[in-house]
Amino acid sequence: MTSDVPLIAPASVPPAVPPIEVPCPQCAVRADPESLRCPSCREDLAALVRLRYAGRIDYNEAVAAVRAGDDPAARVLLRRALAAEPGLQPARELLAVVEARLGAGSGGT
Ligand SMILES: [Zn+2]
Repeated sequence: MTSDVPLIAPASVPPAVPPIEVPCPQCAVRADPESLRCPSCREDLAALVRLRYAGRIDYNEAVAAVRAGDDPAARVLLRRALAAEPGLQPARELLAVVEARLGAGSGGT
């Protein structure tokens, strides 16, 4: 088993948050994780998912930004993620890493 893919991600980047699970408000059936539709009534639950998991979606995008080396973009996304979901601990930890790297002194408000 060989891997040609170079490991460019810093060791400090945590994994993305667990998969999103949103039940259909009408059927209480979990949305299909790929189509984001209710398997029972076929209702499109994507908007509901975005609403409820806005913080996680921003966090996942922030992880991608960090991997791409775009710390400033990651910082914006992580702050937004924490505004949407203050208890999102992985976002808090990654924000600390990113802010330390960007330099705490240049932050301002
Ligand atoms: Zn349904």
